[in-house]
Amino acid sequence: RWPEPQPREGRSRLIVLAGPTAVGKGTVATHIKEHHPELLLSVSATTRSPRPGEVDGEHYFFVDDAEFDRLIAAGELLEHATVHNRFRYGTPKAPIERALADGRTVLLEIDLQGARQVRAAAPDATLVFLLPPSWDELVHRLIGRGTEDAEERERRLKTAKVELASQGEFDFHVVNDDVARAAAEVVSLTR
Ligand code: 5GP
Repeated sequence: RWPEPQPREGRSRLIVLAGPTAVGKGTVATHIKEHHPELLLSVSATTRSPRPGEVDGEHYFFVDDAEFDRLIAAGELLEHATVHNRFRYGTPKAPIERALADGRTVLLEIDLQGARQVRAAAPDATLVFLLPPSWDELVHRLIGRGTEDAEERERRLKTAKVELASQGEFDFHVVNDDVARAAAEVVSLTR
């Protein structure tokens, strides 16, 4: 049984959404952004290249390794991690601090390593773990989106197994059986 939502009083409005590869974190986060503009969806910095359709400053801040190093050295990132053994990703601190000071809720869509760092930096942050309806469904989604070759899929599924084993560290668990429903459940935890 998963924990029931707690009353919001005394809890941070900093919500971390994490979960294994291909579970649909990005889709759920985008749905929330579109339907709840009052929430701030944090825009991460990354060293990977933009995919077709991705806009700098909107989906990510696309930076090179030197700039990423500078952001770390200047203390401008709340957390940062190398994801899938390849590119670096990090959460810019300043926009989050501004939004929280303005009384807004902030949503971070980051990996498990990042979620742990946020937990350490902001112990009252709310950690939400997004789950697939089943393991088979996760494999199906990863194959279905067709953005990774077989070797990369194997690597991600291995990581996913380890990540799924860590779900106990999270405050809430939301099953992504339907994007709109899962998004509504995440938002209900922010109120
Ligand atoms: P993608 O390259 O497919 O957009 O993202 C790959 C992974 O990086 C996803 O699991 C996503 O959650 C994670 N990620 C995106 N932004 C951040 C961030 O700022 N920090 C951390 N730790 N992970 C991130």
